[in-house]
Amino acid sequence: MAKSVLIVYAHQSPKSFNAAVKDVAVKELEKQGCKVTVSDLYNMEFKASATREDINGELKNPDHFRYGEEMEAAWRAQTLSDDIKAEQEKVREADLVIFQFPLYWFSVPAIMKGWIDRVLIGGFAFSLEKMYDNGIFKEKKAMLSFTTGASESMFSPDGINGDINVALWPLQNGVLHFCGFQVLPPQIFWSPAHCPDAVRAALLESWGGRLKALMSEQPLKFAPVSCSI
Ligand SMILES: Cc1cc2nc3c(=O)[nH]c(=O)nc-3n(C[C@H](O)[C@H](O)[C@H](O)COP(=O)(O)OP(=O)(O)OC[C@H]3O[C@@H](n4cnc5c(N)ncnc54)[C@H](O)[C@@H]3O)c2cc1C
Repeated sequence: MAKSVLIVYAHQSPKSFNAAVKDVAVKELEKQGCKVTVSDLYNMEFKASATREDINGELKNPDHFRYGEEMEAAWRAQTLSDDIKAEQEKVREADLVIFQFPLYWFSVPAIMKGWIDRVLIGGFAFSLEKMYDNGIFKEKKAMLSFTTGASESMFSPDGINGDINVALWPLQNGVLHFCGFQVLPPQIFWSPAHCPDAVRAALLESWGGRLKALMSEQPLKFAPVSCSI
């Protein structure tokens, strides 16, 4: 059966290297027969802040607004705002979610963090019973694909920025694996603004090559829930 892929994409410019990386993914995955959906967050003017406006109708507790509890209740009552409902429907359909972004402050840009905060809410994406390897999205895959300003050596264990895997832990474990996703190894484009055009072309070609077998890659390993104390 054809696979469904959601690309959550955050870059302001269609001329950026991130745009080129996203375009290679759309082209290659469609060539494989995948159904590809792109959430182009800046173009959509996706709201980044988690606020009361994310809920239509009455609140459970208007005296003290608790975002997580109100969002879960609104998800159950189907009273979430339309933009969130639309993104959740895309996630529900997806076999693979690719997050495509430039690294901002060792993390995702604020607009993508807003997508995470507002879309991956309790009830829809996790619950106390369903998290990590028992997580709601355990049949789905997800991966980070991003560009950096810094070089690979700066993000090595001995480098000035430290090990990139440490920087990625909150996103890969705390967000993706927490929701149950099988997390594929990240695709990292080191410092594309500081390499020659031919190197950038080779990076895009190599990404296209990886995409050919992406669906059959082994996910990263995380501590099983049974290890928790
Ligand atoms: C707020 C903020 C925080 C940041 N924090 C960090 C951080 O914590 N760590 C870090 O390492 N970096 C950080 N950066 C740097 C940022 O990650 C890089 O600037 C970004 O990743 C570069 O990617 P880009 O797509 O914007 O590159 P671009 O500048 O858009 O592109 C790079 C080059 O690729 C060229 N290009 C575009 N399309 C193609 C194509 N099809 N083929 C060949 N070449 C092409 C472009 O013309 C350009 O010359 C930060 C930046 C900001 C603004």
